[in-house]
Amino acid sequence: MVVDNYKTVRQEIDKTARKCGRDPSEITLIAVSKTKPLSDIEKLIDIGVEDYGENKVQELCDKYENVSKPVRFHLIGHLQTNKVKYVVDKACLIHSVDSVKLAKEIQKEACKKNIIAEILIEVNVAEEDTKFGLKVNEVIPFIEEISSYSNIHVNGLMTIAPFVENPDDNRKYFRTLKQLSLDIISKNIDNVNMNILSMGMTNDYKVAIEEGATMVRVGTAIFGTRNYNI
Ligand SMILES: *Cc1c(COP(=O)(O)O)cnc(C)c1O
Repeated sequence: MVVDNYKTVRQEIDKTARKCGRDPSEITLIAVSKTKPLSDIEKLIDIGVEDYGENKVQELCDKYENVSKPVRFHLIGHLQTNKVKYVVDKACLIHSVDSVKLAKEIQKEACKKNIIAEILIEVNVAEEDTKFGLKVNEVIPFIEEISSYSNIHVNGLMTIAPFVENPDDNRKYFRTLKQLSLDIISKNIDNVNMNILSMGMTNDYKVAIEEGATMVRVGTAIFGTRNYNI
């Protein structure tokens, strides 16, 4: 099931990309495995899937330690400063950096471990109270401030769009994030690139691709619905 679902999503991504004149190979599908057992991940590892998304530090670390082959785990959920030390050398990319306090802590722990932490800036484009992330107009000053952190490398932007019935309603948010990335590129900030736009989930990944996503984070369409009560 999981393998078939993954292949179906990947095909839909490729189809959508071609339809809008994009090269499918520039779009990474992150299989969001949060709350799902390692056995599901192993099925995908068997067919060569390398990118997984987790939103909790503990769960990411557990899975990281126990997978049969090294694969990439993306931290896509909110990160508390006191947990940075556990995950900074295990997550291949932290998608959710949204405060100077957090960036400082990542800098400190990455420096201690002598690594460069690869990060994205989380932007709350729709300004939903329930979501984390910087407001659009806060992003450039924030990046300018943290660009001097020598153990942090900014690779792009991430957003979580609102839950909507009609995915087309999120198009404007994806478009805003893409435009923001272009504005940042034009500033030529040292140590900062905008190669990655992490946007689009089960409901809206096709629209996100049409608007320039280079990473989509898909959980439900691959692994089925999540049960948070177990
Ligand atoms: C859970 C989650 C996803 C995946 O959501 P689905 O709707 O199940 O595809 C993507 N991004 C983030 C940040 C998430 O927490």
